[in-house]
Amino acid sequence: EGIDLVKRFGGGGLLASPTIVHAVDSVSLSIRRGETFAIVGESGCGKSTLGRLLLRLIEPTAGDIRYEGRSILSLDPKEMRQLRRELQIIFQDPFASLNPRMTVGDIIGEPIWLHGLAKGSERRERIAELLRTVGLLPAHVDRYPHEFSGGQRQRIGVARALAGEPKLIIGDEPVSALDVSIQAQIINLLEDLKERFGLTLVIIAHDLAVIRHMSDRVAVMYLGEIVEFSTTDELFDNPLHPYTQALLTAIPVPSPVNRSPKPLLQGDVPSPTAPPSGCRFHTRCPHARPICKEQHPSLETAGDGRKVACHFWREIQNAGASALSASP
Ligand code: SF4
Ligand code: MG
Repeated sequence: EGIDLVKRFGGGGLLASPTIVHAVDSVSLSIRRGETFAIVGESGCGKSTLGRLLLRLIEPTAGDIRYEGRSILSLDPKEMRQLRRELQIIFQDPFASLNPRMTVGDIIGEPIWLHGLAKGSERRERIAELLRTVGLLPAHVDRYPHEFSGGQRQRIGVARALAGEPKLIIGDEPVSALDVSIQAQIINLLEDLKERFGLTLVIIAHDLAVIRHMSDRVAVMYLGEIVEFSTTDELFDNPLHPYTQALLTAIPVPSPVNRSPKPLLQGDVPSPTAPPSGCRFHTRCPHARPICKEQHPSLETAGDGRKVACHFWREIQNAGASALSASP
């Protein structure tokens, strides 16, 4: 049986804080063991909330989260500790998420101590091994986070996540605070570690370019809802939802024919506390029609394993295809 995370929230939305009503709404997804699963969307779309719910760092007001066939809401404290060890998270800003008063050794050693994985010299050896694993040096053990570059700090965050010997790592925008050249290094590191330790990865990102080559499947979120669900290859080849299409055109393409892509996505994300009626994307959608304001599109099956929530995805797709064949 694989890792199986399912979340279902009926009608009213959720959440821990009354100010984030609708942060994640009626989301249901399951993640397969050993895959890299991406959750993408602009900030404010509920991606991080979803990540924290998966780890039960916040509690859903309704619904369920299933891991390896069991509801995590039914776990006793001991089982919950085990789950927190198996599911680790890496945050966007490695500086904010690392205690500045703790040495690298203490930061990485804490989960080892907390979960009783190793003691004394064995623990010190394990910390040195983790530092090497993420491309740092055992000699870094007595240094403090501020002595490192952004990329190195993220490596420390990765080492800490690995220290608990996890099965699944959630990266919440793990590279978006880093320079582009450093981003690739961290992505490569995560991919290597995934292979080496048989990890499952969940990558939360606003930038489709980041997940393009690393993820197997993608959920595109808009205002707390999944609007498209697809394998990564199919999503890039043939995006079905207008929001996904807009996100894709925002990626700069080094192509002579496509020098200045038209910005399809205008305006800010509306407030999640009062999402637009009907289709939540209607205020920004270039294909919106009157019914879009009235009726909420459900997530429907659109071919093999794909899902899309748009009243007009078929028409939009056909129009796109005929425009393509009509051009010389
Ligand atoms: Fe656009 Fe309407 Fe589809 Fe929503 S349902 S994405 S507004 S066309
Ligand atoms: Mg976020």
